[in-house]
Amino acid sequence: MSAAAAPRPTNAELFARAQAAIPGGVNSPVRAFRSVGGTPRFLVSARGPYVADAEGREYVDLVAGWGPAILGHADPRVIEAVTDAASRGLSFGASTPAETELAELVEQRVGPVEQLRLVSTGTEATMSAIRLARGFTGRDVLVKFSGHYHGHSDGLLTEAGSGLATFALPGSAGVPAAIAALTLVVPYNDLDALRVVFAEHGDRIAAVIVEAAAANMGVVPPVPGFNRALVDLAHEHGALVISDEVLTGFRVSAAGWWGLESATDTAYTPDLMTFGKVIGGGMPVAALGGRAEIMQQLAPLGPVYQAGTLSGNPVAVAAGVATLRAADAAVYERLDAAAATISAAVSEALSAAGVAHRVQRAGNLFSFVFGEEVASAGVRDYAGVQRQEAWRYPSFFHAMLDAGVSLPPSVFEAWFVTAAHDDDAIGRVVDALPAAARAAASA
Ligand code: PMP
Repeated sequence: MSAAAAPRPTNAELFARAQAAIPGGVNSPVRAFRSVGGTPRFLVSARGPYVADAEGREYVDLVAGWGPAILGHADPRVIEAVTDAASRGLSFGASTPAETELAELVEQRVGPVEQLRLVSTGTEATMSAIRLARGFTGRDVLVKFSGHYHGHSDGLLTEAGSGLATFALPGSAGVPAAIAALTLVVPYNDLDALRVVFAEHGDRIAAVIVEAAAANMGVVPPVPGFNRALVDLAHEHGALVISDEVLTGFRVSAAGWWGLESATDTAYTPDLMTFGKVIGGGMPVAALGGRAEIMQQLAPLGPVYQAGTLSGNPVAVAAGVATLRAADAAVYERLDAAAATISAAVSEALSAAGVAHRVQRAGNLFSFVFGEEVASAGVRDYAGVQRQEAWRYPSFFHAMLDAGVSLPPSVFEAWFVTAAHDDDAIGRVVDALPAAARAAASA
């Protein structure tokens, strides 16, 4: 006689238990659904364009692990590479041939990367790139743009104050004011503001860090020529540019956002670049890379210290190598096509329901801003994004979730497709849209 199967715990039960054991029930804040309300889904598996929760419900996934899953979840080539690597040992703390292969794959694709150092998270990559820029230039001040996210290290959580540019407040409790005071925050896409900052502080600025195309306040692409002009301006003042491609790298093209601009008259050459997400294929790999002359300031060659027990972990690197090898031109065509179809369908449904909105696009990354004002004027910076009717998003989000489509749980995040989003998965998204758009209209 077989015992009756134990009843599945509900998402609500799992969340209650998690909240007792883990602060907020989550290991990264946006997962808690604070900005959309309701109960987070506790996921147990993912395959292709779908994720499944603990209650046994399947969702079309438009989060893709926040970016890494360009091939689709659990791609057999990646799983095989990881399984094979795991069977040979989980962590050596020593050099492996695969690390060099991953560095070479990146260097072949991304021109400005002459040398690469692997780390485990995007936060580590940007933190180390900033230390390197400071060590190389002998200067302390960092410039960042409001609404850009570069991870959670001290000095990078600062947001813009009002006005052109301001020595910012810390942005998080626990960040010493003395550290936050070394970060200057400038509105995005505003070269005049950047010129003012360089005119006043140019000889103290080590680096400007910038998302190659902003996608952490929703998607806000650079105005044409912005990246190039900022590199020129920084170099005039002896400062470096760190182009953060943790999110865009190997996603919007084989060579990231840099690749999209490199064949145009706005081509630019950053000094350092940072990568994450796709480079690890869903495992903890991130990297900083750039000009060899700068990279060779890192220990053991140079005086800038940087290290990691799990850096270049063989199982994680196997996932990254398999993902980059598999990401051929056909993959990027499918990503672009899925993004175009889904973003157009969302826009059509919102229009049919009378919801004023604008589609924000940066390659195959997209998001939506809601409201007449932003729809007609467009948005180009954080202040613009904040002028939208953000309160329309939670009811849209939940209507989609109830219909089996998992969207980013905040209006201030990009939507992510995978190359596995086939007609069936896209059809499910399209079918869910009219009711969700009506929910947004009556919010
Ligand atoms: N930079 C950018 C542009 C990012 O999008 C992110 C993460 N979303 C990070 C840095 C930080 O990466 P991680 O979460 O791996 O620390």
